[in-house]
Amino acid sequence: MEELVALCKRRGFIFQTNEIYGGLQGLFDYGPLGVELKNNLKQAWWRSMVYERDDIEGLDAAILTNPEVLKQSGHEETFTDPLVDCRSCNSRWRADHLEKSACPSCGSKDLTEPRPFNLMFKTNVGPIDDGTSFAYLRPETAQQTFTNFKNVVDSTSKNLPFGIAQIGKAFRNEVTPRNFIFRVREMEQMELEFFVKPGTDEEWHQFWVKNRLSWWSKQGVSEEKLDLYDVPNKELAHYSKSTIDIMYKFPHGLEELEGVANRTDFDLKAHSNASGENLSIFDDKTNQHITPYVIEPSSGVDRAVMALLVDAYNEEEITSASGKTETRVLLKLDPSISPVKVAVLPLSRNEKLTPLAKSVFDTLRKSNLIGGHVQYDDAQSIGRRYRRQDEIGTPLCVTVDFDSLDDNAVTIRERDTMEQTRVSLETLESDLALKLKS
Ligand code: ATP
Repeated sequence: MEELVALCKRRGFIFQTNEIYGGLQGLFDYGPLGVELKNNLKQAWWRSMVYERDDIEGLDAAILTNPEVLKQSGHEETFTDPLVDCRSCNSRWRADHLEKSACPSCGSKDLTEPRPFNLMFKTNVGPIDDGTSFAYLRPETAQQTFTNFKNVVDSTSKNLPFGIAQIGKAFRNEVTPRNFIFRVREMEQMELEFFVKPGTDEEWHQFWVKNRLSWWSKQGVSEEKLDLYDVPNKELAHYSKSTIDIMYKFPHGLEELEGVANRTDFDLKAHSNASGENLSIFDDKTNQHITPYVIEPSSGVDRAVMALLVDAYNEEEITSASGKTETRVLLKLDPSISPVKVAVLPLSRNEKLTPLAKSVFDTLRKSNLIGGHVQYDDAQSIGRRYRRQDEIGTPLCVTVDFDSLDDNAVTIRERDTMEQTRVSLETLESDLALKLKS
């Protein structure tokens, strides 16, 4: 894990936020490569939810939330973690994360009784700060989806079953943020609220668990590191009839990557009752207004990025051309997720090679067939540039050498096998596209 965190900083994936001022706990920034990786992942989710299905619509709602919404949803009362204080060193901890009921900082067992600590952040809205004009920063995207239920139904004429997908920031004032980007205070979520007829909810719940498991494998997460956890009744959130968590073997243990909850009609009914707005849908088969049940697959983008990086990180012993054994670090990311799809590398910085390499780069960066970020790199030796591209997970490098000037061909070098193939410039774009897909 330490090596991965160091790589994330060195290569520009993830930085501690405001590091020059000592940081802010539980907050991270995504650098030039991190933002690409994150965007690729979010796009893959959006594509599979909104574009590849005809029963899901998208939404992008506000972060600041009317307190009434989170009062009616039950979050004001129950969105809490049990907090304990250590009487010896005054540190604070989540009671359910303690080992052997001892303070992780000083080891003392002199702890206060656990008390509920609400995880929602509040902020003042408008120029008067008198304690009444506040809003919450949403702790999940879901509530904004529920309050928009009628707007989406009325504007799209949907019938059951159908879903609303949303990707966006959510905030939780975690007592002990930790394990890099696993538990943070500002995160991004990818949440689907899938509305179904009551009575079909259990079937749809199973459907979404299976669907999400296979989606994670498609993104390159190893199947053997995934597991399911049927959350026992006493651990269920207040709105849930049943929840299956998709677990991933993180370096610090088997932990939740995504929760798939059967939220019943709890939220829609609560908001209907409190707002007076009818949040039901007309079912033309039974001629009745139905308040649907909701199946919610909800995952954190940050946790997903961590799982993908952990899974992709590899170290290999290789023998260099000079016979020396060295360690090659590589990120075996799926090409669809890799921040850089192709790197164009002239063998050396040279007045004859540079124009050709630049023109290859220009074609590839605009290519719809490649459809992603292409980098040009001519600094340092070719070996070091290959190592750098391996470390950031670039699946393919294109090397332009002196022979290219005569034979109009270049070399494609593959990250995982280090295999090199000579291809004509005429077919380069389609050859690369084919390799990226295979
Ligand atoms: P945990 O038990 O780990 O605190 P949770 O059960 O509270 O998680 P949910 O409310 O189900 O989490 O949120 C859905 C998803 O959002 C989680 O599966 C996780 O991927 C992500 N998530 C939740 N809290 C955080 C956090 N503090 N930092 C990063 N991601 C988070």
